[in-house]
Amino acid sequence: MTIQEIIKKTLMEVKSKGESLTPDLYSELFCKEAKKANVIVEDCQRVEKFLKRLPPEIQKDLKKRHVTTVDQLVQYLASQLSRSTMKDSVEVIEAYKILAKRLLQAITLLHDKEAAQMAEEDRRRVDELDDIAKIDAMRMRWNRFVMEYSDAYLERLDPYCRVDKSDLKAMVDGIVNCFRNMERGGTLQKSGGLEAVAQLMIASLTPSIASGMDDELATISSQIRSDPELLTSDAMVQDLKHMIKKRIELDKKAVISQIGELDSVIEHINLALTRVIDSGEGNKEALGVIQGELESVNLKADSFEVIHAKLLAIAASLEKETMVLSEEMHKSRERISELQQKVRVLEAALHRERKKSSTDTLTKLPNRRGLDESLSKVEAAFKRYGDNYSVVLFDLDNFKAVNDTYGHDAGDMILASFAKQLRRYSRELDIVGRWGGEEFMVILPKTDKEGAYRFAQKLREVVQKSKFLYKDRRIPVTVSGGVADRASYPDQQAMLKAADEKLYEAKEGGRNKIVK
Ligand code: GH3
Ligand code: MG
Ligand code: MG
Repeated sequence: MTIQEIIKKTLMEVKSKGESLTPDLYSELFCKEAKKANVIVEDCQRVEKFLKRLPPEIQKDLKKRHVTTVDQLVQYLASQLSRSTMKDSVEVIEAYKILAKRLLQAITLLHDKEAAQMAEEDRRRVDELDDIAKIDAMRMRWNRFVMEYSDAYLERLDPYCRVDKSDLKAMVDGIVNCFRNMERGGTLQKSGGLEAVAQLMIASLTPSIASGMDDELATISSQIRSDPELLTSDAMVQDLKHMIKKRIELDKKAVISQIGELDSVIEHINLALTRVIDSGEGNKEALGVIQGELESVNLKADSFEVIHAKLLAIAASLEKETMVLSEEMHKSRERISELQQKVRVLEAALHRERKKSSTDTLTKLPNRRGLDESLSKVEAAFKRYGDNYSVVLFDLDNFKAVNDTYGHDAGDMILASFAKQLRRYSRELDIVGRWGGEEFMVILPKTDKEGAYRFAQKLREVVQKSKFLYKDRRIPVTVSGGVADRASYPDQQAMLKAADEKLYEAKEGGRNKIVK
C-alpha cells in the first residue's frame, strides 16, 4: 500500500467516525492504518525525536506516564493544553505545524502535479503561520482535497491494457509490457479484439425470434466471420447499422405474427367454450378437463411453440366436445318435438271431448253443463262490474202429446227446429242452450227483465206462427216461458228458481204464454 492510500484511508476513517480532524486523531489513526498495511513509518515508531524538543519537566512527566508512542504523546499534549488553557502555546502550535507539514508532504507524493506544487508551497508557508486557527484552516482545505481526490482516471487505461494500478511501479511496468506486445505482434492483441467484436456482431445480426435469417444478413455475417478486419471499414459500419435495423424488423414481424396466431387460437377457444357453456348441464366433466388443460399453459415458462401447440390441442378437444353435444342436443330436440306433437293431438282430442260433454247432440246447442258454465261467467261479470243479465226458460207445450200423436222422431225434429229458431232470433252475445228434455234456456247478458220479456214474447209468436212439417203433416207447436233478471234477486239460484216459477205460472195460465 502506498503512503497516499494510507492517508486516504486514515481520512476516510476520521470521516466515518464523524469526528473532526485533529492532529492527535489523525496521527493515531494514520499510525494504525500504517501498521495494518505493514508500512513502517518512522514518525509512528519514534517518539523520542519529539520528546527531546519538549521542556525537561514535561519530559520527566512523560517518562513517569510511560508515554512511548506519538499517539500517547499527542494525547498527553492535548490534555495538558486543555488543562493549562494555553491553547496557542508555542509547543502546541509546533505540534500542529508538524502535523500539517506531514500531511502536505504526503500530498506532494500524489501523482497530481498541480496539487503537489501547491502542497509544497503551503508546506513552506506553515512555518510563517502563528496560530492554530490558521494552521487548521489550511489543513482542512487540504483535508477536503484529499477526501475528494480520485484516481478514477486510471480506469481509462483498461480498454487498452489491464495493469495493476495499486502500485505505481507495477502499473508502469504493466503499461510498458502492453506497448511492447502491441509493437511486437501488432495483430495479436488487435485482431484478437476484432475477432471477439466480429463474433458479437454476428450474434447481434442473428434474429432471436424470427425463425429464418435473411439472405443479406447471412452473407454479411459470413463476410465478417471470415475477415474481422472488415469491421474497421466505414462502409461496413454503415452496412452493419442498416443490417441490425433489418434484423430487429425481422424479429418485430415474427412477434407480431406469433401474437396474431395466438390471438386467433384464443378466439377459437373462447367461441368453443361459449358453445359448450351455452349447451348447458351434462358436460361438467369435459369442461373440467379443458379447464385443467388451460391452467397447465404456462405463459411465462413455455416457449411460443409449446403454448401454441397446447392451445391448439385445447381448441381441438373443445371442438370435439361441442360436436358431441350438438349431436345430443339435436337428438333430444327431435324427441321433444315428437312429444310436443303428441301433446297437441291429445289436447285437441281432450278439447273435442270437453266440447262434446257440454254440447247436446240433437240440437248442437250447449247442454245443461254448457249452460252452467255460461251462467257462472255472466254471474262473475255481474258481481265484478254489476252487469245485469236475464234468463228465459222455455218449455214446449204438451210435448208428451206431440210425441204420442206424431211419434218420437217428429218430436226430435221439432226440438231441433225450435233450437234453430232460438239461435236465429237471439243476439250474437246471447247464450242459447238445452236445459233438458223439451226445456230450453236463453241467457241474455246486459239485458233487463223487460228486454228479456220482449225477446221471449217474440219467440213465442214465431213458434206459434211456424209450420213444423213432418212427413207432409203440419204439427202445431206452442211454447211457454218464464223470465227473471239477476238484479231483482239476491243470488243466481233465487233468480233461476223464479224463472222456473214464472214458467209454471205460464203453464197454469193456459200455456202459449210468457210470464215475467
Ligand atoms: P206441459 O205443457 O205441461 O209442458 O206438458 P208436457 O207434455 O210438455 O210435459 P211433460 O213433462 O209431461 O212431458 C214432457 C215430454 O217431453 C215427455 C217426453 O217424452 C218428451 N221429451 C223429452 N225429451 C224428448 C226428446 O229428446 N225427444 C222427444 N221426442 N221427446 C222428448
Ligand atoms: Mg217440461
Ligand atoms: Mg212441456
